Amino acid sequence: MNRALDLAMLAFGKTHPNPHVGCVIVRDGQVVGEGYHPKAGQPHAEVWALRGAGQAAQGATAYVTLEPCNHYGRTPPCSQALVEAGVKRVVVGAGDPNPLVAAAGIATLQSAGIEVALMDGAENQRAKDINTEFLARMEEEAAIEMARLQALAKSREAAGAQHSD
Ligand SMILES: [Zn+2]
Repeated sequence: MNRALDLAMLAFGKTHPNPHVGCVIVRDGQVVGEGYHPKAGQPHAEVWALRGAGQAAQGATAYVTLEPCNHYGRTPPCSQALVEAGVKRVVVGAGDPNPLVAAAGIATLQSAGIEVALMDGAENQRAKDINTEFLARMEEEAAIEMARLQALAKSREAAGAQHSD
């Protein structure tokens, strides 16, 4: 995981508005692929690492500093790419509070039968530290989205109450 974090740092300050992410793929104790997200619009760390690993990704363990994305943005979701590559286990440095990802990346992996481990302790802290600004922004967006949904539910309730009069 520390190697993946070092990779993520190679693009420090260059990935805005995206987070800094690194990925290392290990099979039988050997690094078979690694990569990092160089900048917005470029493939994500997982994609570079999977490209490097090729067939060797089958049955391998992927170390990713941040929960793999699960939505179609400018690139297809990394959770899907990891599933298709036949990775057996994914170790995640930190969960992603992005409302579009929020545990969905991990859920996608698990429902495909991939074993997922979330880091704790020093490595989890370091994984969070490299994306302080991004994580704070996503937590804020998640809070806004939650407030929006609650307001929507309330106004529906109010509308429903009116109709039943
Ligand atoms: Zn991704």
